[in-house]
Amino acid sequence: MSIARHPETAAAAIGVSADEHHRSVAPALHLTSTFAWRNFDAKPEYSYSRSENPTRATLASALAELEGAASGIITSSGIAAVDLVLCLLSPGDTIVAPTNCYGGVYRLLSARAAKQQFNVVFVDQTDDAALNEALAAKPKLLLIETPSNPLLCITDIDKCVAAAHKVGALVVADNTFMSPALQKPISFGCDIVIHSTTKFINGHSDIVGGAVLTKTADLGEELTWWANCTGVGGAPFDCYLALRGLRTLFARIERQQATTAAFVDALQSRPEVKKIYYPGLTSHPGYEIAARQQKGFGSMLSVEFNDDVDVLRLLPSFNIFSTAESLGGFESLTCIPAAMTHASMPPEARKVAGIADTLVRFSIGQEHAEDLIGDVFGALDQLKVSSVRDINFSGNARKQVA
Ligand code: PLP
Repeated sequence: MSIARHPETAAAAIGVSADEHHRSVAPALHLTSTFAWRNFDAKPEYSYSRSENPTRATLASALAELEGAASGIITSSGIAAVDLVLCLLSPGDTIVAPTNCYGGVYRLLSARAAKQQFNVVFVDQTDDAALNEALAAKPKLLLIETPSNPLLCITDIDKCVAAAHKVGALVVADNTFMSPALQKPISFGCDIVIHSTTKFINGHSDIVGGAVLTKTADLGEELTWWANCTGVGGAPFDCYLALRGLRTLFARIERQQATTAAFVDALQSRPEVKKIYYPGLTSHPGYEIAARQQKGFGSMLSVEFNDDVDVLRLLPSFNIFSTAESLGGFESLTCIPAAMTHASMPPEARKVAGIADTLVRFSIGQEHAEDLIGDVFGALDQLKVSSVRDINFSGNARKQVA
């Protein structure tokens, strides 16, 4: 009788000692564009690395197992993963997406919709009436992002799946903020899961990558065809590094989210803090849903500081936190979404989403909680609140930032 292994075991064991030729314990890195044919009796398993590559295949099968998916496709970035899924749409089809989503996803959907490749409707997916109204138009895809970037908005996956499937829409979940260690959207009925593996899955901030995992083999086959057709497959070296990072996913997440809970706890005592966006707070509107559908509250949070806190001076005065785009790595990062990760969203769209110009996002890494708290507390203590600057990022929408 075969017993399903635990996901921690899968992350550690996939590809280990699987090398038939040399018995290498760590899976080999196949850096090759092409593979030699022995004869013409049958097409070889691997023939050309745009189409298929053993290193990419090992990562794909690892992520598929962790997400409970039938099939996995590795892409060159998280955005490439989203774009690959958009290949399912034809002109006239509609995708319903969250108002509150990663700025690059908003830009991609808006730009392709502007070319009439499909229609996009952005709705607040925590608002049942708004969501049902959008679904009444029978979209082909419903994209959810939970927790969302950067406001940690929680969408009820069960509810979305039931409502979307009733009108025949496929549900695509961006699981980047959680990773399969904390949330498995396919287990709630989602049809497709996407990841920016750049983040928690790789966890070492040294690659950009993405993944698409499908509930059914048919959907996997269709998207694998498109991945080859459009050439969005991840590079073997990046796949090798992502697999290496995946080995320690569960250990990293466990530590990072424990540190985050301590960090949030400490930050609540600061008078400069107006609001903390973190689903682990019982005051968060999505707390109960998050507690039900997630295995933990993750290691991301955003903070709105009081209007007299000059965040443009605050961030550069941190010593441990680096001010940088991205998240989910071993190192703690902070950013101002309106000026950085969400600058490609027009100011009106950021306003609808609730992303204030003074919002600061934190990604908590492997450092000691006391040092991270000390870093932020020290910088806040030093900040002279007298020189308030007028912060306005309204001109950023067309700048080429991530
Ligand atoms: N989805 C989410 C939720 C993200 O936060 C990001 C990037 O920050 C992406 C997708 C895009 O991923 P990538 O930067 O790897 O293209």
